[in-house]
Amino acid sequence: MPATPVRVRVHVDGIVQGVGFRPFVHTLAHELGVAGSVRNTGDGVDIEAEAPAAVLDAFVAALRERAPVLARVDRVDVVPAAANGDSGFVIDLSAGGGPRRTLVSPDTATCAQCLVEVRDPAERRYRYPFTNCTNCGPRFTIVTDVPYDRAATTMAGFPMCAPCRQEYDDPADRRFHAQPVCCRDCGPRLTLSDAGGPVPGDPLTAAAALLRSGAIVAVKGLGGYHLAVDAADEAAVARLRGRKHREDKPFAIMVADLDTVRAWCEVDAAEAALLTGVRRPIVLLRRRADAALAGSIAPGNRYVGVLLPYTPLHHLLVAEVGRPLVLTSGNVSDEPIAYVDDEARERLAGIADAFLSHDRPIRMRTDDSVVRVVRGKPQPVRRSRGYAPEPIRLPIECARPVLAVGAELKNTFCLARGRHAFVSHHIGDLENVETLLSFRDGIRHFGRLFDVEPEVVAYDLHPEYLSTKYALDLDGVELVGVQHHHAHIAACLADNGETGPVVGVAYDGTGYGTDGTLWGGEILVADLQGFRRAAHLAAVPLPGGAAAIRAPWRMAAAYLRSAYGADLPAGLAVRTRNAGPWDAVLALADRGVNAPPTTSAGRLFDAVAALVGVQDEVRYEGQAAIELEQCADSGERAAYPMSFAAGVLDGADLIRAVVSDLGRAVPPPVISARFHRGLAAATVHAAATIARAESLDTVALSGGVFQNVLLLTLVADDLEKQGLRVLTHTQVPCNDGGISLGQAAVAASWPR
Ligand code: ZN
Ligand code: ZN
Ligand code: FE
Repeated sequence: MPATPVRVRVHVDGIVQGVGFRPFVHTLAHELGVAGSVRNTGDGVDIEAEAPAAVLDAFVAALRERAPVLARVDRVDVVPAAANGDSGFVIDLSAGGGPRRTLVSPDTATCAQCLVEVRDPAERRYRYPFTNCTNCGPRFTIVTDVPYDRAATTMAGFPMCAPCRQEYDDPADRRFHAQPVCCRDCGPRLTLSDAGGPVPGDPLTAAAALLRSGAIVAVKGLGGYHLAVDAADEAAVARLRGRKHREDKPFAIMVADLDTVRAWCEVDAAEAALLTGVRRPIVLLRRRADAALAGSIAPGNRYVGVLLPYTPLHHLLVAEVGRPLVLTSGNVSDEPIAYVDDEARERLAGIADAFLSHDRPIRMRTDDSVVRVVRGKPQPVRRSRGYAPEPIRLPIECARPVLAVGAELKNTFCLARGRHAFVSHHIGDLENVETLLSFRDGIRHFGRLFDVEPEVVAYDLHPEYLSTKYALDLDGVELVGVQHHHAHIAACLADNGETGPVVGVAYDGTGYGTDGTLWGGEILVADLQGFRRAAHLAAVPLPGGAAAIRAPWRMAAAYLRSAYGADLPAGLAVRTRNAGPWDAVLALADRGVNAPPTTSAGRLFDAVAALVGVQDEVRYEGQAAIELEQCADSGERAAYPMSFAAGVLDGADLIRAVVSDLGRAVPPPVISARFHRGLAAATVHAAATIARAESLDTVALSGGVFQNVLLLTLVADDLEKQGLRVLTHTQVPCNDGGISLGQAAVAASWPR
């Protein structure tokens, strides 16, 4: 006798729309012999399922275990219902009501099947640059509203042709309900134009010819315009640098495939997985000494940012050029990446020789993400395309909806409700009007997409941050000020799904302290709710304020004063090189006028970089520290001593050791290594001492200075050797891009 059918109503929560979830359920039901239906709702997918109990169990388990690649199943709720003798399983296309709570999936790299089609002359999408399916293609960058369907994307203006419509309507097709589905007949069109207007012929072939001849071509991608040049053409790369006013900042390169990457860079298994994965970030790789890359791609850097093509357009273009391309954001200097066609033409007119563009609008400007592998784990440097807006699971539930506005530089914001933290794509530095506008637009857009009406708003204590001013201007919300370094440590906790307490080492540029001074070399005892400043670097003056951040030699002067008092050692090259303003800067430091005290670890790196002659002035944030790290001698084992007493780590000790080695003509790479090892050892000693005193077994490492792989590796390895558990970042950056997540986690745990 056959088992009696029972019926259940299943609700699935997570990223389950726009990822082929309904066809998957449909196929699964047919395979297992389950009757019923599936439909999208405002907050996920509802399934009616009828079958013998054992079959239903297998069906429900498979919803999680066999979900499509792009799906993320967060919850499966099953409630019993009355059996009604259904047979067959259907996809119910009626739109569900209820609250808008669906998750929007990130943009996803072209899948293998679409790539085969694009490369096959027999396919109707042969060489069609906008080919996509349920498993791949644009998502977040084209979504204009919810629920996710074609009308709520920037594909709304492209009515489907009959063959595309057929694929879209067929549950057995790979393109069933793939909202951006299109082809050469009905979809976006590629165009190439130069100063003289449209360029005739096939845009891809013509653009590739231009690139091979050394031209700079603006290419419209998923999240905005990039500027492309031949990566092996030194003159072209130098011209791009000149026109972009970007003197030293490294460029990323796009390479056809993994084998080609291996010819240029060292690639381990974790890096290969990141390069070829669906998120397709720029991966920072160690470049091979024999790589034939233009030297000006990443001056003074052993690493180079590499990414594989992530749209058919990029695949086709790189293949056609036959060589790697520099692919850098389409902007001048620090402006945000251009993404609106007319505006891009205007802004990039002085840089690009030609524009490879198309007529599918971009709703959300999104930069490429940047990731590196440290100690075998991915460490995000910039979390944007391919990652946003996928929510990060908070370690605690938000009782009320939260907006966290982030920091000033490398800004992201975060909206949170329940256990979901929607950390935004990289917004950028909030110092120009356009970035501020996209910050405001982004908050509105996320609020609508994810149905978050903030009741609690978390902000940084720095009164001059534009994000802070934005928060303080809001009416009818509860405001929660979060100290910058507490936010860093909270971000690291949330990143790891933890709540603390921990010993938190927060080393960064500068952040506003609770005493009104500039912090940045902090060891806290912290949990999500609060913190105590347990130790910090000794404060030194920041002579000239922001001017000292651009001119590391000023920090060398301030540190020399703090190490030697009135009797500065004679014959220091940094002083000779900056003889003109030297005394005036020392006077600033001495009088404390326009020289706020700072405990910043980043500024200590600046001082050492200037002392050893790496950089006196910087053209991008963190440049001196990055170049100091890059030059460190990896064979050196000695470490400078650094004292830790009464909660103070004394940077002047390291400065005296550097000066002493300079006097003995020790080469800069050796000095750099000894400095890194000295700071790491003292940091470990201080953190371990505090951990013992507080009976804590875990140390969290955060703040932008921990982008320094050498320092991070030394500190983390040594802490683990001492039996301590170490938390580092794997989901959001340790730099200020992670601050909004930390603020949100603190606000979520706020007493209520
Ligand atoms: Zn595909
Ligand atoms: Zn079509
Ligand atoms: Fe910071």
